[in-house]
Amino acid sequence: MVARHGGEPRETFRRVLREKGPIDLKTHASKKHEGEIMTIAKSPVVTMSPTTPVYDAIKIMVNEGFRRMPLVDPGTKKLRGTVTASDIINYLGGGEKFQIIQKKYAGNFFKAINEPIKSLMTPRALSMSTTAKISDAIDIMRKHNVGGLPVVDERGHVWAIVTEKDIITLFSGKIREAKVANLMSRNLITASSEVSIREAEKIMIKRGFRRLPIISNSEFIGMATVRSILRFFGSGEVFKHLQSGTINQVLQTSVLEVTMKNVATIEPDADIGKAAKTMQEKNVGSLPVVKDGKLVGIITERDFFKLIIG
Ligand code: AMP
Repeated sequence: MVARHGGEPRETFRRVLREKGPIDLKTHASKKHEGEIMTIAKSPVVTMSPTTPVYDAIKIMVNEGFRRMPLVDPGTKKLRGTVTASDIINYLGGGEKFQIIQKKYAGNFFKAINEPIKSLMTPRALSMSTTAKISDAIDIMRKHNVGGLPVVDERGHVWAIVTEKDIITLFSGKIREAKVANLMSRNLITASSEVSIREAEKIMIKRGFRRLPIISNSEFIGMATVRSILRFFGSGEVFKHLQSGTINQVLQTSVLEVTMKNVATIEPDADIGKAAKTMQEKNVGSLPVVKDGKLVGIITERDFFKLIIG
């Protein structure tokens, strides 16, 4: 179900760099797998078969900590599409893909989570060549507003993946000085602790973001994220809410079940370098921005990415 591709080209490329020092990429352009992109792309890349059941896909994404997976045909080894954590949240109640569950399975949870992941994927997903430059990746990601790209050779075989995180890491030392207040999103969308998981999902999918600060009695109490919801669906917790076997029952569960408490926060006057460091240390993709105990904004890795790619 889960496969790891590549690995070797990047190692080879690294070894060449170690042994010979920086090489002239142009003179090696004809050698496949040796483009500059392979210095930052992650390889081996974890991929899934398009027929992987949704439930297995969730568990793989949660265990591996990835939110973007290339789907590879096991026979031809070719890239068939990609699926993101947001696609799964869209399917599990957040967006129009939920119709598959309602129409095809009349809301039956067990049938829904056995649906092949390919029903949710973006087919013919964007990809880039192993011989490409880092600037090519940035251009494609900027133009198409995507957060990651599989890296494929001329046969369409997937060797690696490059995501906004890799680009941020590459440029992290060069992020110019600025305050968190300059980079954060101010028009915060929040949800009350009384909403259901379904309502939280719908807000995230409609607005196109992956986090939702949760408010109780006018106080910020934690974050619900695409990732925390996936974790819920991939864990045994979900089965505690399944007496009748319909997904609607699960989706009525309180958002508190997927709200992470005691999350790291940052002040608006802090330097963005400090925010980047905190996010790295705590291994989180966002920080709520808090001033005098009041939530005033949010800063996420997407904001850093946007800053870098201009
Ligand atoms: P994300 O996909 O969560 O990394 O965020 C995408 C963009 O939406 C970034 O510019 C974030 O600052 C912004 N954003 C994320 N969550 C929220 C939220 N709850 N309210 C307002 N903006 C948000």
